[in-house]
Amino acid sequence: MSISKALLQKYAELIVRTGANVQKGQVVQLAVSVEQHAFAALLMEECYKAGAKKVNVDWSYDVQSRLNYLWADQETLSTVLPWEEAKLKQAVEDLPCRIFIASEDPDAMNGIDPQKLSAVMQRRGTVMKPYRDAIEGKHQWVIAAYPSEKWARKCFPGAENAVDLLWDAILKTVRVTEDGDPVEAWRKHTEFIEQKAAWLNEQGFASLRYRSANGTDFTVELIPGAKWEGAGAINANNGAFYIPNMPTEEIFTSPIAGKCEGTLVAVKPLSWNSQLIEDFAITFEHGRAVSCRAAKGQELLEQMIRMDKGAAMLGEVALVPKESPVNQCGFLFYKTLFDENACCHCALGMGFKEVLPDGDNLTMAQAQQQGINDSIIHVDFMVGADDLDIDGIRPDGTAVPVFRNGTWA
Ligand code: ZN
Repeated sequence: MSISKALLQKYAELIVRTGANVQKGQVVQLAVSVEQHAFAALLMEECYKAGAKKVNVDWSYDVQSRLNYLWADQETLSTVLPWEEAKLKQAVEDLPCRIFIASEDPDAMNGIDPQKLSAVMQRRGTVMKPYRDAIEGKHQWVIAAYPSEKWARKCFPGAENAVDLLWDAILKTVRVTEDGDPVEAWRKHTEFIEQKAAWLNEQGFASLRYRSANGTDFTVELIPGAKWEGAGAINANNGAFYIPNMPTEEIFTSPIAGKCEGTLVAVKPLSWNSQLIEDFAITFEHGRAVSCRAAKGQELLEQMIRMDKGAAMLGEVALVPKESPVNQCGFLFYKTLFDENACCHCALGMGFKEVLPDGDNLTMAQAQQQGINDSIIHVDFMVGADDLDIDGIRPDGTAVPVFRNGTWA
């Protein structure tokens, strides 16, 4: 391990206290790779110090997942067993605070039949979705990263100190420094994002128009009264403020499902089901993706869009200025957690009902009636070109510059 003990401790504290904001008496569900067992122990201890009642760990290992996909048949992999479902039911009851540590090898699933991967995901996703919907908005969660050897080597091929380089980048994006106070840094950062979100909410735009020289020419309609949000969220069940993604730079909302036209050209590769889709564009008509082209991963992209009815429609639009520390790192992380915080993006699939007034208390079906998209997928793809212009269109038709040349106008 190349990072100092003091920095690691700071990082663990930040994840538990500022990110998840673990409350006294809460059950914590920690999802982490067996390769990061030492860090898991550090996190567990922090959770208990914060007053957790019990910390449960879901160990994962990407080699195990790969072997299962290689050798087990599709039917077996697709089946959600009764004990797995019982666990999901238990989570609906306990509403545990959830901490995810992302560290997987981006190439873990290379060579696995994409058809098999998406079929398994589709079957399992359909069974698990009602349980996920039931806890949505009612628990705190955070996803943060830890650099594994294989992930680091993917980002910095050939570098001897790849893990160090990835550590430096991660700590920079989550504002953890040797002598600085990350908690204070996050307070300021959250405040900035909240100010921008408040400005967007005041404007009450009816739609957004995207233009870039790369071919992006796109308009999307917004849900009247839906909020722009960013940085933090509040657990409707206990009022605790938490930060679901570390890092986070985005301000996002859910547009009206089925109300967008034009073409979005991706500016970064997309990693989906641990496989890469590169140099791609998606064209929408009447709100649905009707065609797509990709220099690499065309079949994968087409499968993604066909996952279910909502997979061809947008669930999210997000604004991220090109000055984002993630973008400044200047390399692809091969993880949505980072790459989606590099620049403006949109997501195909499920939207966020919490952006609606009183959204936390709506069922997904009610939220859908108000325009929120529903799907078993939610896949972000980056459209924030350096020359991207975005106009906000008011209900009376006036255009207001929101982004110019990839950053706040
Ligand atoms: Zn996003």
